Amino acid sequence: MSIEVTNQKRIAIVGAGVAGMALAILATKKGYQVSLYERNSGISSLGAGVTLWSNAMFVLQQMGLEKEINRVAGRPHFMRQFNQDGAKLAELDIEDVNRLSGYPSVSILRRDLMRILANSLEHLGVHIQFNASITLQDIDALKQEYELVVGADGRMNSVVREFLYKDKVTPCYQGFINIIGISQLDQSDNAIYDFRGMGERFGIVPIKAGLHYWAAGWQSPLDKDKPLSVCYEEMHTRFQGWPDPVKKVLKSYEENSLNHIFVHDLNPLPHWHQENVLIIGDAAHAPLPTSGQGACQALEDAWHLVQCWDKNNELDKVLVGFYQMRIDKTTAAQRVGRQVAQSIFSTDSMIEPNKGPAGISAQQLSAFWMQALDTK
Ligand SMILES: Cc1cc2nc3c(=O)[nH]c(=O)nc-3n(C[C@H](O)[C@H](O)[C@H](O)COP(=O)(O)OP(=O)(O)OC[C@H]3O[C@@H](n4cnc5c(N)ncnc54)[C@H](O)[C@@H]3O)c2cc1C
Repeated sequence: MSIEVTNQKRIAIVGAGVAGMALAILATKKGYQVSLYERNSGISSLGAGVTLWSNAMFVLQQMGLEKEINRVAGRPHFMRQFNQDGAKLAELDIEDVNRLSGYPSVSILRRDLMRILANSLEHLGVHIQFNASITLQDIDALKQEYELVVGADGRMNSVVREFLYKDKVTPCYQGFINIIGISQLDQSDNAIYDFRGMGERFGIVPIKAGLHYWAAGWQSPLDKDKPLSVCYEEMHTRFQGWPDPVKKVLKSYEENSLNHIFVHDLNPLPHWHQENVLIIGDAAHAPLPTSGQGACQALEDAWHLVQCWDKNNELDKVLVGFYQMRIDKTTAAQRVGRQVAQSIFSTDSMIEPNKGPAGISAQQLSAFWMQALDTK
């Protein structure tokens, strides 16, 4: 691992999620001085798993983490879409996407991804400051002390976003709930399964033999007070008659892996910075999980930001250029997430539950994901 030692750029990062840790790694490797603040007492591995498409693997390779990721990740070959009776609707050959883009797509447990990022920081000597819940007043102080303050503090309550937008930006509830978990399931075809019904969806992603993560989703009013036990019961009732893989998953999940999320995203924002304060990742452009791109775009942000700043010392130009370079792609991910969610969960379009990523060609997907990712 080579670290340049001449660069004295100083950067404060709020939030040690995917975006914050990736930025801290890439910036440290360029020789920047990094301070990383996290409100929790440790790294959060909330969430079952993520699929990291070729664009994410490009960035992880740039970070020198590809081997470690491959050691624990799965490599699904197909994405297969079915209706709730198990009839096949569509199929995407993920290996075709990988071939066209030149990078693999992998599935990984979130706890493994977060551990790999945290270990990399430790190797680089970056100490995450835990139990540091940054406030609006803290941002005022950080902005005097550091050349750049970056909010990587997530979609729902980003304090750095609030600093930039005095009229608070409210995340948009998109009308469905997700229950996520990790299960034991033997399945031989190494495919992501995407079962769709009327206003309901059950997705199952293989990691390795016997280990899968999954998400059940259905149309639901926003009800944050609904007890967890009621949500889980409802899931069992809704999906009990679904095809075998769903039944098996529901019989074999790790109890402590379960979580429920009333799913929100953001509308595209007109700017991501003011003076030397910037937001990235979900804080700036959270898409719905139905885009499959939130963590991938967070990784891309980190890589592009360091690339831009490395080539140009004029920070304002860097931040303006960063927004111009990233806004179309992140907006497209937000739009795709909403289109897919609408085709499944909206009452208007329930007649056609078979639209989605599996209906997009491998060429379209690889061209979209690999946009603007090269090392020249
Ligand atoms: C069900 C589900 C499935 C998903 N599946 C995929 C997928 O398959 N592929 C994919 O690419 N993406 C997926 N995503 C999206 C992905 O998880 C997110 O886009 C990604 O985690 C965003 O990373 P982030 O670092 O921007 O934000 P976060 O991961 O939310 O991290 C923000 C961090 O900031 C910290 N923080 C917040 N406020 C403060 C503060 N004031 N001070 C200090 N620290 C603070 C938080 O504690 C947290 O650690 C999925 C999301 C969901 C909900």
